[in-house]
Amino acid sequence: MTVRVGEGQHWVASRYTRFISVEGDRGVGGMLYNSYTGALASVSSEEQGEVARLLNGVIETPEDAEGLAGELLAAGFLVPADADELRRASKFHEALKTAGTMHLVLMPTEACNFRCAYCYQTFKRGAMTRDVIEGLKTYVRKAAERVGHLSVSWFGGEPLLAFDAIAELSDSFMDSCRRGGARYSADMSTNGYGLTKEKLAALIERQVRRYMITVDGEAGVHDRRRKLRGGGGTYRTIMDNLRELRSLDAEYTVDLRVNFDEDNIAGLKTWLNELSALLGGDRRFGLLVRPVGRWGGPRDAQLPVCDRTASDRYLWELAEYGRQAGLPISGAVADALMPAGSVCYAAKPNAMVVGTDGSLYKCSVALDDEANQVGKLGRDGTMRLDRDKIALWTDSGEEQDAVCRACFYRPACQGNHCPLYRMRTGKRPCPHEKRKLKRALGLLWNDHVE
Ligand code: SF4
Ligand code: SF4
Repeated sequence: MTVRVGEGQHWVASRYTRFISVEGDRGVGGMLYNSYTGALASVSSEEQGEVARLLNGVIETPEDAEGLAGELLAAGFLVPADADELRRASKFHEALKTAGTMHLVLMPTEACNFRCAYCYQTFKRGAMTRDVIEGLKTYVRKAAERVGHLSVSWFGGEPLLAFDAIAELSDSFMDSCRRGGARYSADMSTNGYGLTKEKLAALIERQVRRYMITVDGEAGVHDRRRKLRGGGGTYRTIMDNLRELRSLDAEYTVDLRVNFDEDNIAGLKTWLNELSALLGGDRRFGLLVRPVGRWGGPRDAQLPVCDRTASDRYLWELAEYGRQAGLPISGAVADALMPAGSVCYAAKPNAMVVGTDGSLYKCSVALDDEANQVGKLGRDGTMRLDRDKIALWTDSGEEQDAVCRACFYRPACQGNHCPLYRMRTGKRPCPHEKRKLKRALGLLWNDHVE
């Protein structure tokens, strides 16, 4: 592609562009990334010198803007020298607030058949009430007439304990979206214990195409950390389910989430080989490594969490190890790098978490925190909202923080990766991908992302 530069127009590297050299099993090369356009490009070793020259200089002549330079211009790695990039980022942030997308995080039940060692939930309530189910249907029927896209995240408790409610609501939402002309998509966080091949097929029919399932290591370790409510292991059933799911010829993805802390870190590499033997090479199953955090549960003080430096190191080491063992990388890593890709739904005005009794929250973790109890959904489909409380979640990022406004990762994160973390610690919630960008881009480069 060739882009011609107009007379007198100069082009420079965008403040949101980063270029890193990488080395891996594909040899030596580089990755270019721009957090405003979301462009990711792999650079060959032959192109590296020229890319560095173009990024470090000023393109002044039409000849200079052809070939490789033209591609950099088109992807937004280079911008006009007089572009007001801070203003662009600010406008992009504002646009999120009026985006024609609605995101509902729904808890069809707050009960769970697991009792995980690090869980923060209190399981005070059971299944979603009939009033809330009807209220949601009515709310979505009206919303589908004004939004362009409705996305639903099924969450819990363990959502599959309330499969009938999910089916009923999904059917209604899909019908409303069809009538209203809105696009519909859904995902689910499940412990995987009840996700049989038949359930998966029924859920895919209802557009639930992205899943997150947590497995914490080999059978003995996993069963100690993620046991059944009444006691007893869960590993074997989850693994049998995953093996079965793999044989379903359908379009869906599973993020295989591995939570690590000092308790299970030692055996994880060996176990990733075992996991790869089961699921490796199937790009629908992607590895997502995350540190256990103190998320507000009753056992928080006793959790053997890794400190931040160790977490950052282990996370990328394990992800790279898993990749080398044959496990694809979860799409969540690249997604986090996209514009607004690291912004938590709690910070988005058009996103809401709905509890089983119709309580409305912004954050799906701090359910007992008063600041997070932002409203109520009625049976008639109306939402009574406390706008001041909502603003605590939606306006606490780059609006308040000059360092975030100047950050190269601002368009992706907007200072809003985790408003709860900022609220509770007073610190910036920089996401894993930003803190170790070189590791994240290196991982994607090795995983053959172009
Ligand atoms: S605010 Fe933080 S803890 Fe709450 S849902 Fe968002 S990322 Fe999770
Ligand atoms: S929270 Fe961190 S990564 Fe996010 S915008 Fe602020 S400084 Fe950048």
